[in-house]
Amino acid sequence: MRDILIYAEQKDGKMTPVTYEILGKARRLADEKEKMVIAILLGHKISHLARELIRYGADRVYTVDDFHLRDFDDVVYSNVIINLIKQEEPEIVLAGATPTGRSIMPYIAASLETGLTADCIDLTIDKKTGLLLQNRAAFGENVMVTITCPQKRPQMATIRPYILSRPKPDPKREGEIINIALDEGIKSCIQVVKFVKEIEDNNDLMKADIIVSGGRGLKDAKNFKLIRDLAKLLDAKVGATRPVVEAGWVPASCQIGQSGKIVSPKLYIACGISGAIQHTVGIKAKIVVAINNDPNAPIFDIADYGIVGNLFEVIPTMIKEIERRRSIET
Ligand SMILES: Cc1cc2nc3c(=O)[nH]c(=O)nc-3n(C[C@H](O)[C@H](O)[C@H](O)COP(=O)(O)OP(=O)(O)OC[C@H]3O[C@@H](n4cnc5c(N)ncnc54)[C@H](O)[C@@H]3O)c2cc1C
Repeated sequence: MRDILIYAEQKDGKMTPVTYEILGKARRLADEKEKMVIAILLGHKISHLARELIRYGADRVYTVDDFHLRDFDDVVYSNVIINLIKQEEPEIVLAGATPTGRSIMPYIAASLETGLTADCIDLTIDKKTGLLLQNRAAFGENVMVTITCPQKRPQMATIRPYILSRPKPDPKREGEIINIALDEGIKSCIQVVKFVKEIEDNNDLMKADIIVSGGRGLKDAKNFKLIRDLAKLLDAKVGATRPVVEAGWVPASCQIGQSGKIVSPKLYIACGISGAIQHTVGIKAKIVVAINNDPNAPIFDIADYGIVGNLFEVIPTMIKEIERRRSIET
């Protein structure tokens, strides 16, 4: 087995949590075979992060610190990584199943004509064949499957964030940092005009203790204020179904489900959500409360508490009642 290469994803000069989680796993797999963990770090003004990657388990870090990498660009980022893969010929390539990882890894895999397993929750090495065993949920999260890539190289996988444990950093760890220049031949067809900050600060949706989620039952974008008001009162994050995101009522970062985020809060309040399997596979909550005016809505099958009623009456009543109780307590 050759080395393991990971894409070290940073955002605004800070490592994403999943990068540490992948580093920990890559380190364990590499140790089994006495191989190296190579990290690739891309961006602008990010060189200071290279030492951190070594402390968390990388043996060698390639850094491309360039103004042209300031804004994420699928084509440029992917091609820098492809060039490095061709140079290093790693056995395994890993990245987080974040919007960035999900965007570049299929491009890289297709360009290299190899396979990619998305959204893995664990990785091990088959002792007999030395192949990477890539574990992920399938068929609406109802079965666990193990996928291998026996014929093509590298073996590639994205890892679901917040599943693997984060390793402890070792301040004494030593490694090699190699700064490389951005290949001028890599050109993009994308021009970034500007970045617009999302209204919802949903970076922590996957770590949230409470999520208030809204579906098409809200009827209109302006009615989503009800969801935001209840969320604010409960110090919760805002979630949504896919049609609501597609309608532009809330940003894509709010989407929960098969093609959105998998969340595991203590409390999930589903408002005007029918409970389609593609949505409910994303809910790993301790307690689910559902508000829906259709008593036969499938969301009630997974709900611990169900309120059959009109959300335009139920949510304001809940808000009033919470405020009333809080005013008594204080
Ligand atoms: C490949 C694929 C991937 C997908 N991925 C996702 C995904 O990641 N996430 C996702 O969410 N969906 C996903 N979907 C879409 C999914 O199949 C459903 O269409 C979607 O989840 C339904 O959204 P909804 O519950 O908001 O809308 P609807 O199904 O239209 O449900 C609206 C609900 O609101 C209730 N309602 C209406 N008025 C009121 C009221 N006044 N008070 C209370 N309740 C009311 C209705 O009874 C109904 O149950 C995917 C689909 C496909 C094919």
